Amino acid sequence: MAKKKEKSGSKRKRRKKANSKPKKASRKNVKSLKKKNPAVKNSGKLSKSPFVKKDRDNVQTDSPILMQSPRGMHDILPGEQAYWNQIRRSLDHAFLEYGFQRIDTSILEYTDLFVRSIGKGTDIIDKEMYSFVTKGRDKVSLRPEFTASIARAYIQHGMNVLPKPIKLFSTGTVYRYDRPQEGRYREHRQANFDILGEQDPVLDAQLIQLASRVIEGLGIKNIQFQINSIGCSKCREEYLELLKSYFESKKRKLCHNCKKRLETNPLRILDCKEDKCVQVSAGAPQSIDHLCDECRSHFKYLLEYLDELEVPYMINPRLVRGLNYYTKTVFEIWSSEEGRKHSLGGGGRYDKLIETLGGESTPAIGFALGLDRLVMEMKKTKVKLYKEMKPKVFLAQLGELAKKKSLRLFSDLEKSGILTAESFGRGSLRSQLRTANRLGVEIALIIGQKEALDETVIVKNMSSGAQETVTREKLVNLIKKNLKNNNVVSVKPKKTR
Ligand code: AMP
Repeated sequence: MAKKKEKSGSKRKRRKKANSKPKKASRKNVKSLKKKNPAVKNSGKLSKSPFVKKDRDNVQTDSPILMQSPRGMHDILPGEQAYWNQIRRSLDHAFLEYGFQRIDTSILEYTDLFVRSIGKGTDIIDKEMYSFVTKGRDKVSLRPEFTASIARAYIQHGMNVLPKPIKLFSTGTVYRYDRPQEGRYREHRQANFDILGEQDPVLDAQLIQLASRVIEGLGIKNIQFQINSIGCSKCREEYLELLKSYFESKKRKLCHNCKKRLETNPLRILDCKEDKCVQVSAGAPQSIDHLCDECRSHFKYLLEYLDELEVPYMINPRLVRGLNYYTKTVFEIWSSEEGRKHSLGGGGRYDKLIETLGGESTPAIGFALGLDRLVMEMKKTKVKLYKEMKPKVFLAQLGELAKKKSLRLFSDLEKSGILTAESFGRGSLRSQLRTANRLGVEIALIIGQKEALDETVIVKNMSSGAQETVTREKLVNLIKKNLKNNNVVSVKPKKTR
């Protein structure tokens, strides 16, 4: 008997333990956790999984979980969403206006796709990919950017037969295993625009204008485009030789990484941020002085078109971008505000990429905007945010029957485009009206037992306190008439092209 008692007591204890809230990590716990797993830094809250078992590979799965998103990754909480809604709105507007179609590709691709397109010797391929082998032994990577996936989808789905140019828009998360710091994350979000099948520089100019429109649409004013041409495979070869022999002659003055880059990817030395390399690069030969006739003419027309569009730009002869597939035009978008600067986006032509991946020769150009950086910039420059639609009506109920009727009424109001708030879970009318007050609604609708039986509703004006009882049939029209600024959501589907 005593044994039985002890057993059920410990069962109770176990159940209590499993249901207990996550514990704040004690210093001792975190220390031992860090010891076991050096990647665990910055103590957070620890919880013990209630499911104590061993998985198929015989690994114990009851070790404490760190209640924190992985390093370099962050959640976007409801309080931040006003900035993101503004971005979504600006992107949706721009991609439709400029005739783009949306495409969504997988965030996971075969690793070879990125290695072939972005190229060895780049930071992304050499250091930053999240790569792993699947249970089926496939080598895959989380996308570190969009263009390679777009090129793969273009070839896979035979898009070459579609009328050109093909304009594709995509947006989502990308992954780069870099050292996290302000504005540099391991998971960040990008919006990506690509135009495939056209080589005319007028499209380069139009794409740059589109980038500028999206950013302006967010309320960010002072931006600058940096532009360069890195030539085509013909003229670049000659230029690379010149560049290499220049840097060879200054090898002593280069940083450790750039000494290696001299062998693997000398163009990237121009992009090095180390002071001594910046000084050496200042005297390096410039690609725009060594362009072939075709590339020179392409660049000249692009600048003329940008002048026509009055897009502010500067030529940056050291701009090369961190990916190997670029040809001719490359550009980046920078904020011209004071303080620490980050690029807000960048892109360029990739006329040979589709061919390199096995498709037919297809000139193309694209760019990506760093959305987390745009949010940072919006905050820094205190842009004005669009006013989000807030409910102006609150639905309160008292009693079981009233609750049932309210559920139905809420749905009817939503169908009529009247944004309504409620707190169905609350019983007391007082606490419901307190919520209504806190939300700053104009009208409170109240249904009690009597109203529920009579199919009526009490309509209370929250500022004057005046109230009247109306029938359900007359309710929608009365609310629409009484709301200031006719605050009603359009329920008709939006027209799209
Ligand atoms: P990239 O093609 O590398 O120039 O990336 C395009 C844009 O994405 C950049 O201009 C940045 O705005 C943004 N971006 C790139 N890397 C990161 C990162 N690690 N964290 C946050 N934003 C990034």
